[in-house]
Amino acid sequence: MNIIAYGAHAGDQPLEPMRITRRAPGVHDVQIEIAYCGVCHSDLHQVRSEWAGTLYPCVPGHEIVGRVSAVGAQVSGFKPGDLVGIGCIVDSCKHCEECDAGLENYCDHRVDTYNSPTSDAPGYTLGGYSQQIVVHERYVLRIRHPEAQLATVAPLLCAGITTYSPLRHWKVGPGHKVGVVGIGGLGHMGIKLAHAMGARVVALTTSESKREAALALGANEVVVSRNADEMAGHAGSFDFILDTVAAPHDLDPFFKLLKRDGTMTLVGAPATPHPSPQVFSLIMKRRSLAGSLTGGIPETQEMLDFCADRGIVADIELIRAEEINTAYERMLKGDVKYRFVIDNASLAA
Ligand SMILES: [Zn+2]
Ligand SMILES: [Zn+2]
Repeated sequence: MNIIAYGAHAGDQPLEPMRITRRAPGVHDVQIEIAYCGVCHSDLHQVRSEWAGTLYPCVPGHEIVGRVSAVGAQVSGFKPGDLVGIGCIVDSCKHCEECDAGLENYCDHRVDTYNSPTSDAPGYTLGGYSQQIVVHERYVLRIRHPEAQLATVAPLLCAGITTYSPLRHWKVGPGHKVGVVGIGGLGHMGIKLAHAMGARVVALTTSESKREAALALGANEVVVSRNADEMAGHAGSFDFILDTVAAPHDLDPFFKLLKRDGTMTLVGAPATPHPSPQVFSLIMKRRSLAGSLTGGIPETQEMLDFCADRGIVADIELIRAEEINTAYERMLKGDVKYRFVIDNASLAA
């Protein structure tokens, strides 16, 4: 199938309309007409070649929602008309320890939704800034939210699972005091999800101006991390901290907020490393520093169901495809509450 997409021909070029092809569905494939695609910070890093290895033309997008338009002969779990989502992964080896555990995100041979090697033309994957995608049924997620919420569900496929997975892994729940560092695309979902899991949520932001917004998202309290007195008032009191900030920053002030045996998990992906932590701030209270990458397919389905049951969606600003370059500039300035989502119907207009 020859379809319309939006992508870039080089790292220093704006995104523009282009034609791409998708394979005809194989026996295990699901063909999806894409309704909406969220705009993740990773899209911008990749398309601008800020991470190594971007292949061009590059079509980003891994927060994909839409409707099934065709299925292969051996697909039993999906049928035309179903509302579905595709996140950060479209394939993996399917037989390693990670895949067997449903943690395809940690498979050494996982195929990312864009810029990953594949046998399809042009030899690497092309993402969701496009009209259609064809994916093996194992990597297709079922959406149970009402169709009217579909655009706001798209960011759950990356921002949602990226924050849900560590909150679950470190067993955040009632009785826990949880910090969420950064109130952007990831952080706003982290606040909503940790709140829904029953934790006491403290939003940590550099910006006094985000105080009201963080409370509206479900934070019980907001701490301006540049205010040393405010930070000192919370020393040694957090069970868990989720750091969603992608820009390099000093991690030590946050370790001091953790209790004995507390963990701080990084989910933001900086282009250059954070300054190294001071070892003593970890040793003194047996604190841990960890990282987490998106989530596996079963857990992503669990997250979507968790959100559908509780009416949780992302806060978004819907844009047309031709607004994507402006949206990137605004995203760099933090000028979005909290995720841009492309209306893929605009691709055909
Ligand atoms: Zn992402
Ligand atoms: Zn594998």
